[in-house]
Amino acid sequence: MSTGRRAAQLLHYGFFAVRGYQQYLRRRPGLGGAGWPAFGVGGGAVALTVDDGPHPDWTPPLLDLLARHDIRATFFLVGDRVRERPGLARRIAAAGHVLGNHSMTHPQPFAALPPPVQRAEIAGAQAEIEAATGVSPRLFRAPSGNWSAGVLRATAEQGLAPVDWTVNPSDWRRPGTDRIARALSRSRPGQIMLCHDGGGDRSQTVAALARVLPQLLARGLTFTTPAGRR
Ligand SMILES: [Zn+2]
Repeated sequence: MSTGRRAAQLLHYGFFAVRGYQQYLRRRPGLGGAGWPAFGVGGGAVALTVDDGPHPDWTPPLLDLLARHDIRATFFLVGDRVRERPGLARRIAAAGHVLGNHSMTHPQPFAALPPPVQRAEIAGAQAEIEAATGVSPRLFRAPSGNWSAGVLRATAEQGLAPVDWTVNPSDWRRPGTDRIARALSRSRPGQIMLCHDGGGDRSQTVAALARVLPQLLARGLTFTTPAGRR
């Protein structure tokens, strides 16, 4: 067998080994060991996570919706958007939702940034959220879930737990309310749902959640947060 062919075969099997390990990790409940991101939650519940806000158009209707159904979610906030709308960040916290850190400016790809920039992005958002709300987030989600060993190290250094997701309706792409709702409606106990209330027009996301949340509750699902508590 030629060296080139052997290398191609190794790459092929290596790829499937990595995919398999990722899928194994995604099934693991809890906050994950050894600094790995959490891909799930325990307690037989689901977790709704909402990224990229706060936003004056989409955060308030989402908060109203969650309040109507008495559901607590986790909001991964962007630091510079908190600085623009500190009142909205306070409203999220006052409603009993968990606040998470989603970097200061949402740069991408996050893992490609120099480590000092990654650390400054995380620390900056932490400071903005604390200043606006008095709450110190305990959770971090890398922009686009772009994790690396370096990003996980920076996360751990600042005392934060990394949180990923399991159910991704790609609502940021605006695929239509029906498609977002269908993807979210397949959520099962132990999974973390990913939605967005910032970074663009999120009317489809809010409409899809308005349809799906009552369905999930009717199925007997309960809602928790990756933090377990605030
Ligand atoms: Zn994001």
